Amino acid sequence: SPAPAAPRTGFLGRLFGREEVEVPRRTLDDAMLEEIEDLLVASDMGVETALRVTANLAEGRMGRRLSVPEIKEILAGEVARIMEGVARPMPLYPKRPQVVLVVGVNGSGKTTTIGKLASQFRAAGKTVVIAAGDTFRAAAVEQLQVWGQRAGVPVLTAAQGSDPASLAFDAMERAGRDGADLLLIDTAGRLQNRQDLMEELAKIVRVIRKKDPSAPHNTLLVIDATTGQNALSQVEIFQKIADVSGLVMTKLDGTAKGGVLVALADRFGLPIHAIGVGEQIDDLAPFDPQEFARALTG
Ligand code: GDP
Repeated sequence: SPAPAAPRTGFLGRLFGREEVEVPRRTLDDAMLEEIEDLLVASDMGVETALRVTANLAEGRMGRRLSVPEIKEILAGEVARIMEGVARPMPLYPKRPQVVLVVGVNGSGKTTTIGKLASQFRAAGKTVVIAAGDTFRAAAVEQLQVWGQRAGVPVLTAAQGSDPASLAFDAMERAGRDGADLLLIDTAGRLQNRQDLMEELAKIVRVIRKKDPSAPHNTLLVIDATTGQNALSQVEIFQKIADVSGLVMTKLDGTAKGGVLVALADRFGLPIHAIGVGEQIDDLAPFDPQEFARALTG
């Protein structure tokens, strides 16, 4: 029996039937635009962004006969243009320790990302201290200790249920004493009680600022890219309860529809510092807008 047709990747796979053999062309008309718009929306890009992208595609091209590769290239260009504005590595400041506060809902990949960051900074010759600031979740503390061991970085912990702000204070002292380049602080991610979480984060920030008024130098929001449109509300909520300076998008390996990154970029304009592409220590990559756009539309 004949081998099954290789599935097309990216959201344009369904624009033309899989059975088509020749390079098909279709006239760019309203019906086709609507189809493309639906596919963009289905990729998690969001209606507003999808409308703008298709409008740009339509401009000066209505009535033209276009092939799938041509459409892909145009859309990839549009996506890349949006994403180039937010692709920025985490800024480093000449401060010691440089404080990186890591926030996000539980399960988004905070501890994993902290482990990966610690390992990358170590590899770059920097000294790092980790503070296990989610003092409530024993599992998170244990997991951070494992990551710390892998990365060769000390992990400061406190008794279960103790005040994370006091751990943050101790961590500032320790990192200062050690002359550490970076202090990575994990935080709780229980959104069920938003008020508590807001107060907890505010207190951590107050305590850190007592030791260094310019800290935290980065407040990273970790978002699971597979949560689709939910990612948008997470950014909205965390922007209200913390001074988010940048994003790390996790779980962009596998079959995640990264389209939500476009919606995030379009709506919030927050820099995307890095993406998580797996569960291993080296699976944290810089965000490459061209590559992302090609993969999304490919
Ligand atoms: P936290 O609760 O926010 O600290 O989340 P964790 O760091 O514990 O991560 C939750 C789960 O997601 C774990 O099973 C991780 O291995 C997994 N995870 C984290 N980042 C990634 C990623 O980039 N890709 C994949 N495939 N899994 C990830």
